Formats: sequence, structure tokens, C-alpha cells
Amino acid sequence: MVKLFNEPIILKCDHCGKDLFADSQMSIIVFVEDRKNKVIKDVYVCCKLECDRNLQEIKVKEGLIDGWKDLSDLTNPILFLNQIMATFNRMKNGWIFEPNAFEKLKEIYLACAQYVMREPTESEIKRASDILGLPF
Ligand SMILES: [Zn+2]
Repeated sequence: MVKLFNEPIILKCDHCGKDLFADSQMSIIVFVEDRKNKVIKDVYVCCKLECDRNLQEIKVKEGLIDGWKDLSDLTNPILFLNQIMATFNRMKNGWIFEPNAFEKLKEIYLACAQYVMREPTESEIKRASDILGLPF
């Protein structure tokens, strides 16, 4: 994990609270989709199997579909970028994200970026701090 933010972003299972990057092979990201109306109703991360099943019962209501991906794939630079592009493409194709789902998805991508990006150099940190106006 590289340091991109002041505080590392930890992704926790929406059901049991486990740190998902501790065992990313057994963790997934789930998109709750209303495919008829092209709406992403919810996005969450959780452990495979039991936690997934529990959340599915609560969140995947009638008429909705849960599409999932391995969280470990989003720490693969090629697949991470592909996922970001797929999200852009969905927006271009008229998909709408519920506000809460959109905020959660951004947080998930930022968390994954910590495992995909390289460590910024000192001059890159300074430049980013100057442009963004953020202390680092
Ligand atoms: Zn869990």
C-alpha cells in the first residue's frame, strides 16, 4: 500500500466490519443495479459467502440485480483502470448513480488506488499540495 492520503483509507465489510484488504481474495465489491431504469441503487464491499448472502437479502430487493467483482482484481493496475473506464462508459450510456452509491464508489476506488498507484516523489507531493491546497 502506498501513501496517497493523510490517513489511509481502510475498506471494511458492510456486514461484519472486517478489514477487506487483509484478505482481498475473499472480498468483493457489489453493485446493486436496476437494469431496466439504468440506476445503480447501491454499492458496497463485503466478504464473500456469508456476509454477501446476508447483505443480498437486505439490499437486493425485487427487480434489482447484484453484479459483483473480486476486490483483489481492483488492485490489479490493468483491471483497476478498466473498472474506472467502465464506470465512465456507464455514465455516458445513461446510467445514473444514487447519490449515496456514488459517494461509496468513489471511496472504494480511492481505497483501491492505494494498492495500484506508485509512491509519489517529494516534488510530486509538493506540487499536488500547491495545486490542491491540501497539507500533506
Ligand atoms: Zn464480512
